[in-house]
Amino acid sequence: MMCLEQKSTDSMSIQAGWLIDGSGGRIQEHVRLRIQDGLIAAVAAADTGPTESSEVLDLTGCTLLPCLTDSHVHLFMSGTSDLKIRAAQLDAPFSAVKKVISRHIAAQLLTGVTAVRDGGDRHGHALRYRDECLDAAKTPFQLQAAGRAWHTPGRYGRLIGREAAAGRLAQAIAAEEAEIDQVKIVNSGLNSLVKFGHQTPPQFTLTEMQAAVQAARSKGLSVMVHANGKIPVEIAVSAGCRSIEHGFFMGKENLKQMAVKDIFWIPTAATMKAYCDHWKRVGENPDVARRNLEHQMEQIAAARELGVPIAVGTDAGSIGVQHGRGIIEELTILKQAGLPIQEAIRCATANGARLLNLPDPHVLTPGRPASFIVVDGKPDRLPHSLLSIKFISIRGGFTNPASSRLQPDCSNR
Ligand SMILES: [Zn+2]
Repeated sequence: MMCLEQKSTDSMSIQAGWLIDGSGGRIQEHVRLRIQDGLIAAVAAADTGPTESSEVLDLTGCTLLPCLTDSHVHLFMSGTSDLKIRAAQLDAPFSAVKKVISRHIAAQLLTGVTAVRDGGDRHGHALRYRDECLDAAKTPFQLQAAGRAWHTPGRYGRLIGREAAAGRLAQAIAAEEAEIDQVKIVNSGLNSLVKFGHQTPPQFTLTEMQAAVQAARSKGLSVMVHANGKIPVEIAVSAGCRSIEHGFFMGKENLKQMAVKDIFWIPTAATMKAYCDHWKRVGENPDVARRNLEHQMEQIAAARELGVPIAVGTDAGSIGVQHGRGIIEELTILKQAGLPIQEAIRCATANGARLLNLPDPHVLTPGRPASFIVVDGKPDRLPHSLLSIKFISIRGGFTNPASSRLQPDCSNR
């Protein structure tokens, strides 16, 4: 058996205790993976696996799963509940924010997250970071950024974006010069932490939203929509958005439509769990946050029944939701809502990769990149075992998740 410190070669075999392949299918036990030139060449039962390889890595006490994607983060902001730090981060210059973002990416990598989709920040810092600090030749970490989100004057959204003048959303999207990865539109308010189930009116009409989706499409971009409540979600779904972010209290009819239209849902339920845990600091009512969370879990169970594609997004950066650790919270909630662990993992792997249109589908089957996470113990220790990842393989190259070889480098900027 090869020891863990040895580097990968062009060809090697791994004997693994358990394999969660990211497809949502059954967990495989006692498997032998053969890796060839950075790709998975074969997956077979351990006792019948290929034997021609010169090296076999013994991971019989470990579970393998694809690298994770967090489909909703705000990299410019820390998940602290310290309101003074939050206020300072909101308007900090890029020279300061880039260090914060590097720290957040390191934390994401530590829990096995190698790709994130950023939902926007007021100054477009995450987008600038993507361009100035992320060199694909040096780090495998992938960042997709919406830049600055769109909202209507006087409504929620100033923290993460800018206003679109009344009736001018589509024109504003068409005129955008920044090379964003997707368009982010805010189409409702925040969830009330005072009145359970309170719904806010939409920010944009169906006509405006349809024109906005068309304007984005003509630039080859999809649209992610922040929407809570029945009507704001219904408008976004009818207009043909790619994903509904949050979707608290959206109701079953919207979920049905999303299943039919293959529109992703990113429940960001960890935000409500965080409000329950940090209510003293933010001075809100923990009972309403708890009921919001329970209601969201009921919607998650309904979405599973209906076949809505769910992607894991944590809203990391929101109060109490830490970058990296947030994905463990969100996966735990999906499990508590009734998803078997392999289905919860699919939401953070194959589904996330499909939503972000990543070149690697984050599924561990023959012909796919040999990029995966190794955690100690059985699958039932997930997601908490993500807190102590043994190592990450990036196309067959093994490394510690804290390794500088994975990190972006902003030092020369
Ligand atoms: Zn967000």
